[in-house]
Formats: sequence, structure tokens, C-alpha cells
Amino acid sequence: MKRLPAIALCLALAAVALADKLVLKDGRTYEGTIVEESDEKVTIRTAKATLTFPRKDVESIEKGSNPVEEREKRLTALDPDSPGGYLEAAEWLVTQKELADEATVSKLCNIASYLDPALAGQAQVTLGRFLLAKGKRPEAAAAFQRAISGDPANKDAHAALKDLKGEASEAAKKQMRQLDKALELVRMQKYKEAVAALRKCTKLAFADKAPQFLNMTIEEFANDLQSRLPCETCKGKMKDKCTPCKGTGLIECTSCGGTGKRKGLPKNATFAQETCKSCWRAGALLCQSCGAKRDVTINFNKEKDGTQKKKITLEAGVEKVAWATAVRLATWKRESDGALVTALEYDTVRGGIRTCPECKGIPYSPPTTAINMEGIAVYREEIEKRVSGSIDTDEAGATSNPFDESAIEDKKFRYEGGNWKE
Ligand SMILES: [Zn+2]
Ligand SMILES: [Zn+2]
Ligand SMILES: [Zn+2]
Repeated sequence: MKRLPAIALCLALAAVALADKLVLKDGRTYEGTIVEESDEKVTIRTAKATLTFPRKDVESIEKGSNPVEEREKRLTALDPDSPGGYLEAAEWLVTQKELADEATVSKLCNIASYLDPALAGQAQVTLGRFLLAKGKRPEAAAAFQRAISGDPANKDAHAALKDLKGEASEAAKKQMRQLDKALELVRMQKYKEAVAALRKCTKLAFADKAPQFLNMTIEEFANDLQSRLPCETCKGKMKDKCTPCKGTGLIECTSCGGTGKRKGLPKNATFAQETCKSCWRAGALLCQSCGAKRDVTINFNKEKDGTQKKKITLEAGVEKVAWATAVRLATWKRESDGALVTALEYDTVRGGIRTCPECKGIPYSPPTTAINMEGIAVYREEIEKRVSGSIDTDEAGATSNPFDESAIEDKKFRYEGGNWKE
């Protein structure tokens, strides 16, 4: 019987999760998990089926490494006296896509950095790359910054950080240009366009500095401008018919296709079983755009007490949850306490009206104060300085800590039975 040198194979492919391999004497080969093995027979579970073969037909069995066990083994072997082991474990874990959770990778890299400052650069670069692959750019930047604190000459960290920073400040500049355009509309006295443009800028880079120049936030400034304009959309009513629901407050339920009832149930199904759990038998959901509501009275029978009623208010978007909590198993299943829903009585829908999307419900009442054009000019100058590069747009300070304190503050550096311990 020929056997491949299993250890060499495991070492060569240590990073790859290996399945068990079963080779039959007739040459057929199966990969999967050996679930049973005796003198008489061998059972292997493959991706497609579970197969059992007589032992006498089996040529060889190669046991693959189980990555979950491998992970436990590696973590359990960690010892604070060997800081390098934490970094090795982190690097191995990163190659095991499904097993590499952020909390563990971060912990391993930060412990290594904390225990041995000589490892800090490499450990934080490993962590940074892992976070970058997960799309966590700010967190990755922080890790690269820590790498530089621990190892100022670390080229990988400098290069990675430079890329990230350039990307961030380009994005910030683009946002500031957008804000500048909105302010330019104000200067040009195109107030209606300015209001709409400003409303899109409230969360953009440098928008939070507006109070320094305008004595109000961007949102307050947009509202101030709006109050100087009579609204053409609602003609001062400030509310109009909700578009998605056409003023009805209701949107057809897709779960039941508007019937309110579930399909494919036996003829003797109860009222409750028949009821669509999304729309409460109404065939329509409450419209979320206008936040529609309505009251519904649940009738249910209790064997002892007869019909009872319970009135609740349904709100748009949470009908399904309300169904589960209000009706509950207690009133839902006959077998639990003898209660059974028998009918639902609806009140009329409250909704269908929404705040005017143009004026956002802000009444036309021009303030006596003039628009702060000087403040706008200064604000725009400050934006210009940042966009042209005379002021660094990156306002995040560099860290001086070569590890992430929050990841190691519990001082649990040993791993045992699935948990971190002191
Ligand atoms: Zn429905
Ligand atoms: Zn609506
Ligand atoms: Zn309006």
C-alpha cells in the first residue's frame, strides 16, 4: 500500500483546508470527510453524497487537516513568552479566509506588537492589510500609522498609508468643491437651487465648520434661505399628497399579491393560518414614505372566556414585527392556551400626506436679517485654501502608539477552550 508522506503534504499545503481523500483499489478517488472507519467499512461524506465502502476495497486514506481544529491548536499553543507566535498565528489565520475574524486577527497582531516592539511594524502591517481587504479603510490607515510608530522605517506601512491618505484627501477635496458650488449659488442669488444644493452638503467634508463662518449649520442655513422663498410646489400648504401611495397610505403587499391571504393551505386552515403575516390580511402594507398608521382590533377566542378584543396601532414598516409581538403565540396557537384569532377589524388609515419635499414644511416667513454674504465669502476662501493644497486636508493626527490599546487592555493573552484568558 502506497502512502504519500502526509506530513510533507500538510506542510506544503498548510494554508489550504484539506479534505480527507479516499482511494479505492479500482482507482476511484473521493474527497470529503471520513465520518466512519472500522475494520469492515469506511464511510466518506463528499460534497454530493455520503458513501460507504467495504474496507477490503479501500486502497488508501489520506487524512486532511481540519482548519477549525488547526485554528484551535494554533491559538491554544500561544504563549506570551514567545510573542512571535502571535504574529505567526495571525498570518496563518489571514490565509484561512472563513476562519479569519477581525477581532481575533486584531487581537493577535496587537498582542504581538505589545509584547515585542520589534514585531510592531510587521504585525500592524499584517493587520492593516487584512482590514484593507475587508474594505475598512480608516481602520487600516490607523493600523499602518501604528506600524510607523513602532517602526518608523517600515516602507510597506509608509507606502500603504500614502495611498490611503491621497485617496482620502482627494475625496475630501471633491466634497469641498461641491460645498463651494452650493455657496456660489447663494452668492449668485439663485436661492432655490442653493437650498437644494446645500441640503446635499450637510454631511460633506468641511461642512461641519459652517457655524464658524455662517453662525449656523449648513442645514440651518438651507432652512434660513428656504424661509425667504415662497414654495411653488405646495403653494404654502407645506404638505402634499404622498407620491408612492398616491395619498392612500397603502402600498400593495407583495407577500400575498394583494389578497391578504396565504396560498396553498388546506381547506380547513384557521383564520390565523390563512392570514398574510406581512399585511395582516389587508392586502396592502402601510406606506413608509408618509409613515402611515392605523388601528386594528384583533378578535380572538379563548375557550374559557369566549371572544375577546385587543386594539393595537400598526405603524408603517413594522407590521410584521407587530404581528409577532401583539398576537404572540399566546393568542395565536390554540394548543398553547386555547386562544385563536378569528377576525381583524380595521380603522381607517392615517397617512397619505407627506411634508412637501421642496420646502420640507418650512413656512415662508422671510427673516429681517440679510443673508450673511461676508461669512460666505470667508468660508469659501477657507475652502479654496484646502482645495488648492495650501492647507493639508488630512486633519487626523498620527498616533504615537505602536499597538491598539483597546485590543489588549483586557490583558488576556492566553487562549483556552475557545476563550481568551489572563
Ligand atoms: Zn399580504
Ligand atoms: Zn405614502
Ligand atoms: Zn412646499
